Amino acid sequence: MKAIVIRQPGGFENTKVEDVEKPKGPITVRVTYAGLNPVDINVVLGKVNYTISPYPHIPGAEFVGIVERVQNSKKFKIGDRVVVYPRVYDQTCDRCRGGMEELCRNGSVMGVGCNGGFSEYFATDEAHLEHIPDSMSFEDVVSLPVGGLTAYHALKRAGLKQGEKLLVVGASGNTGTYAVALGKLMGAEVYYSSRKKLVEDYGSVEWKNEKVDVIVNSLGTEAWEPYVDFLDTSGRVVTFGTLTGKEVKLNIAHLYTGERSIIGSTAGSRREFSELIELAHKNNIKSRVWKTFKLEDYNTAIGEYGKREGRIVLKVSEG
Ligand SMILES: [Zn+2]
Repeated sequence: MKAIVIRQPGGFENTKVEDVEKPKGPITVRVTYAGLNPVDINVVLGKVNYTISPYPHIPGAEFVGIVERVQNSKKFKIGDRVVVYPRVYDQTCDRCRGGMEELCRNGSVMGVGCNGGFSEYFATDEAHLEHIPDSMSFEDVVSLPVGGLTAYHALKRAGLKQGEKLLVVGASGNTGTYAVALGKLMGAEVYYSSRKKLVEDYGSVEWKNEKVDVIVNSLGTEAWEPYVDFLDTSGRVVTFGTLTGKEVKLNIAHLYTGERSIIGSTAGSRREFSELIELAHKNNIKSRVWKTFKLEDYNTAIGEYGKREGRIVLKVSEG
């Protein structure tokens, strides 16, 4: 089968489309579409917060497909359309038993701690799969596992309430459009800060120094100042990305005198993943696909990443 294979970390020159052996597992999925996220680019570069395994390595954290082969499953049958939970989890540790699979003691990110979906076939078990609702296409769902789930979990971690003011910084990015759409759905007044106005389609308005209750910071350093100064008393900053840097200046007095909080968030739980698919289905929340590339053209796709106005998707096989 065809797959994007990283022979060693460090650069795009070490990454090629190769013919490799088809993986084996309780369920084999023929991958149809995969979303491109910063984590996939960082895996190629060897710059992630988790151990990349195995080598040679197949990246791809976010993907959908069709069940091709199945052993002893009551939940899935051949031909089912499925979307893959973007974390690897053991289902047995205290964190998994507590419904925090994203923090599994033996877990990792899909396509980082195990081979991922930039590949014609992917082998897994039923715990990592969810059915795609009939009325949704593969493209509608392809960005929910990383872009959608990260935003959903972050808003839940921040405890966003109806009527609160939400500011999404870098709102046109992968998670940003979902943070805007889901924030609206949760009944918040949503503001965006972004050079691109495409998120206005989702019902947010441009931020003009209003005080806000929740700030979504997916970008790190550049999304910290000056926004944090506009966090109202009892406000929360939720953060899950460091694209523009990991370090910020923190005024502890501003934090405690206003009982403000800084909240870390990563991916989402298995239950939230099911909830999100259902929410997206009921409320018509779709991935906004900007360009689709063939698997072989992933290098061109990565080259276009900085220019994107929506999601970049790899079409891996017919679906
Ligand atoms: Zn676990």
